[in-house]
Amino acid sequence: MTGTICPACGAAQPPERTCQDDFYEMLFWEAEVPARGAVHHLMVLCYHLQHPHLYSARGIEYGLKLLVTFMATADFDPQSFNRQQRGAVATSPNPDQNQRRWPITARPGDEGSYDAPVRWTLTAAAVVQRGAAGYEPSVREWAQSLLVALRAAGQVPAGPR
Ligand SMILES: [Zn+2]
Repeated sequence: MTGTICPACGAAQPPERTCQDDFYEMLFWEAEVPARGAVHHLMVLCYHLQHPHLYSARGIEYGLKLLVTFMATADFDPQSFNRQQRGAVATSPNPDQNQRRWPITARPGDEGSYDAPVRWTLTAAAVVQRGAAGYEPSVREWAQSLLVALRAAGQVPAGPR
């Protein structure tokens, strides 16, 4: 059985499966148990940061700032995250009700990327493989791993922690 390697995040995927399937699987888990929604925005952020072509060039800067901000906040507050995101969504030229709305998405000729390779240690695929039971801590660990990887690659400034 041969699979594929995601060109964006490097996750090994079995045939016929992509990271987008993992993304939808996590959304499904959140829909199943509303308490899991506490990490919804963090999950969406991690997924997009590991697939930066989904962002516009400006969007990736925005996403990196969000990650740094939220990981620096000990008491992660999804409500304030929601408010911030709503504000950003309102400026989006193309809020599509049927898609995960993201404020600053890619369009032709304007796709986000990193100017150095980032070595991810956890991916959406890994979070899904760990299973739904530990979903919330898995997403928080995933987010922390992103910050470490992005700092190591010089994509976000070294922080106090
Ligand atoms: Zn991927």
